[in-house]
Amino acid sequence: MHTCPVCGQLGISSWAKFRSGTLIPAVCKRCGAKSFTSPLINGLFGVVTNFGFLYSAWVAFTQWSWLPLIIFVVVLVVLELMIIKFAPLVQRRT
Ligand SMILES: [Zn+2]
Repeated sequence: MHTCPVCGQLGISSWAKFRSGTLIPAVCKRCGAKSFTSPLINGLFGVVTNFGFLYSAWVAFTQWSWLPLIIFVVVLVVLELMIIKFAPLVQRRT
């Protein structure tokens, strides 16, 4: 569970935080407030994902190896877990 930015209680599940974005907010189970992972971090993650995929696909192609793609997937999962654990939630104001 993660701390709600509004009431400060552990009201947000990891799954809710994982899929939260500006369009689909995570809803706090304690107070019902809507929040989402910082758009800056989500944006950075998107950029890293796109470039990381292109780069690892290119390396995989030039070296005829699945290894770069496997490494990419592992890095992606680790990054996502770190975002779930450390990225701050931001209250949705609408
Ligand atoms: Zn709350």
